[in-house]
Amino acid sequence: MSRPFILDPLFRNLKALSGVGPRTLKHFERLINDERIFDLLAHKPIELIDRSYTPTIAEAEAGRLATIKVQVLKHTPAVRRNLPYRVRCKDDTGTLDLVFFRAYQEYMMTQYPIGEGLIVSGKIDVYRDHPQIVHPELIGDGTGEAPKIEPVYPLTQGISHKVLLKALRSALGFAPKLPEWLDPEYKKKNKWPDWNKALETLHAPQSQEDLDPNTSVRSRLAYDECLANQLTIALMRHRQKKLHGISYTTDGPLKTKLLSVLPFSLTGAQIRTLKEIDTDISSKSRMMRLLQGDVGSGKTIVAALSMMNALDSGMQAAMMAPTEILARQHYDSLKTLFEPLGIRMICLTGRNKGKERDILTGQIKNGAAQIIIGTHALFQDSIEFQNLGFAVIDEQHRFGVDQRLKLSNKGKGVDVLVMTATPIPRTLALTSYGDLDVSVLDEKPPGRKPIDTLLFTTEKIQEMIEGLKRQIEKGARIYWVCPLVEESNILDVTAAEERFQILESIFGEKVGLIHGRMKPDEKDTIMQKFMGGDLSILVATTVIEVGVNVPEATIMVIESAERFGLAQLHQLRGRVGRGGDKSYCFLLYKSPLSQTARERLSIMRETEDGFLISEKDLELRGSGDVLGTKQSGVPEFKFVDLAIHGTLLAAARDDAKLIIQKDVKLTTPRGEALRTLLYLYEGDQAIQYLQGG
Ligand code: ADP
Ligand code: MG
Repeated sequence: MSRPFILDPLFRNLKALSGVGPRTLKHFERLINDERIFDLLAHKPIELIDRSYTPTIAEAEAGRLATIKVQVLKHTPAVRRNLPYRVRCKDDTGTLDLVFFRAYQEYMMTQYPIGEGLIVSGKIDVYRDHPQIVHPELIGDGTGEAPKIEPVYPLTQGISHKVLLKALRSALGFAPKLPEWLDPEYKKKNKWPDWNKALETLHAPQSQEDLDPNTSVRSRLAYDECLANQLTIALMRHRQKKLHGISYTTDGPLKTKLLSVLPFSLTGAQIRTLKEIDTDISSKSRMMRLLQGDVGSGKTIVAALSMMNALDSGMQAAMMAPTEILARQHYDSLKTLFEPLGIRMICLTGRNKGKERDILTGQIKNGAAQIIIGTHALFQDSIEFQNLGFAVIDEQHRFGVDQRLKLSNKGKGVDVLVMTATPIPRTLALTSYGDLDVSVLDEKPPGRKPIDTLLFTTEKIQEMIEGLKRQIEKGARIYWVCPLVEESNILDVTAAEERFQILESIFGEKVGLIHGRMKPDEKDTIMQKFMGGDLSILVATTVIEVGVNVPEATIMVIESAERFGLAQLHQLRGRVGRGGDKSYCFLLYKSPLSQTARERLSIMRETEDGFLISEKDLELRGSGDVLGTKQSGVPEFKFVDLAIHGTLLAAARDDAKLIIQKDVKLTTPRGEALRTLLYLYEGDQAIQYLQGG
């Protein structure tokens, strides 16, 4: 199916709009991140200009925004560069000066022709007892009525308020009347307007209330987008379930053996989760399951036991981690479990090159390797598995949805377990993991001690270092995390290097440095030294954020903590408190803190509950930032703000489920309209799922 023709005008290039030429086009693209008319229509007003005060010149009060009908009398160009250009105007009651800096006479004459009637608008100033407006807006030619209230939009360099308004008015003219895809009852209950009307009203706010994200207009537009998103996910899910999965045993010899040699007993949550996984695995349809569990909740062993099912059925299992360090760490810790059972496993990362890599990939292909641990290297096209049956993806938020699919496509109907330690607020989970079933490890293994979290301003750093000295004498091991500087790896590293030098001058060779630009084996060496206790302080960039396990580490110092997301702080803090000893987390910040930053950091002090933290983070920062946007797989919405429209999203999910039940091919009249909706928001992508289904 190709694009419904009714959408054509919305998909046209902005060039089609009046006032948009090749030069402004570039600026527009920067402003709205796209170039279609629909994208411009989704650019929402954020403010109003109230031009309803329309006095005569004599009545106009200083300081007020006035809109006045005038006639141009004369131009007085600037006599020197820094002096203004003046255009004197009049009405029946007096005269008014329009004042411009850096204006060109030729242009001014075309805009304000002498003798012409005009409507100008701006704040009234009084200069030497005479009223004037500095840089007025030229509203109209004096014949028509000026709009009394004007929307104001976010702008960018090269696009003025006026140019944007003009383009938007022109864009509204392109908006077609689309068929209704909403359930009529639901629409009526919410008193929502038609799509077309909603767009028009969106761009013609009459009062401050109209800018609220919960107006019927904005809710409807947001709901549409939620529905498109959830329907796409539902279609994708429907299709994946239909793909033939592998049904295999869940109580084979290897699994039984592994269970019997575990050095601890499983938590209730681990047992429950394993049951959920077993049910999926023994069924014919393919498993797509998300395992959410806070740091330290014991996800790895759940993955390990699940992988045994595949091996017991004569298939391979793979586990993919986002970094080299993590992959190696999983490999090392799983090896101690698996090797005694006679399981053959390998680790493949970007580090393996040439001949070594050929040997490893050979073992993957001929089945000599039963368990394959690795990084992104695993889903490269050149990697072939003999018979991959089960894939685990650790710390999913570091991978995109397509990477998830890529790995699972390495076999036929591969069962997939996605694991994440980033607690995801429910609303976000619906959008980025909506195609997955969810298991939650909401119980930690026994014996964990709470971590004390303390806030320090950077001015107190010396005091804190004194305290660390005493701890180091007692044998403490400390992580010291330096923040990402402006998203730049290089600056990032510089900050860490500087801190390293300072600490080295105090603590000597007990300090180590690790960052993302080091070679893998350099990183390994440092990590080994820290694990073994040769190093007391490990200065790091955020490379240690995920997964690293050094139970002896008890102190986490995070510099410029106010720059991190809460979820990230929570992850980092989770690196300590893993052994039997009491642990601490020091959050260093630069004062003064903004109100939000203060609130965020105090949440860290108050709770260790990752879910609570992520909900708060969503509330305080909005969805975009919670998972670190781009890599998170959370779609970029036009009308939806997940922090606000969560209930709409949940309703859309239920709506989508019903639609799939009743009309999976979308052939009823409502189904036809929904196709238009899907195409509008999801483009070809969603339509593909339709065809496949
Ligand atoms: P995460 O969920 O953060 O990946 P891990 O799987 O690394 O957590 O587990 C953290 C630690 O807890 C590991 O040292 C692991 O051996 C231990 N562990 C896991 N499950 C249990 C359990 N049921 N009882 C005791 N310790 C456990
Ligand atoms: Mg883990």
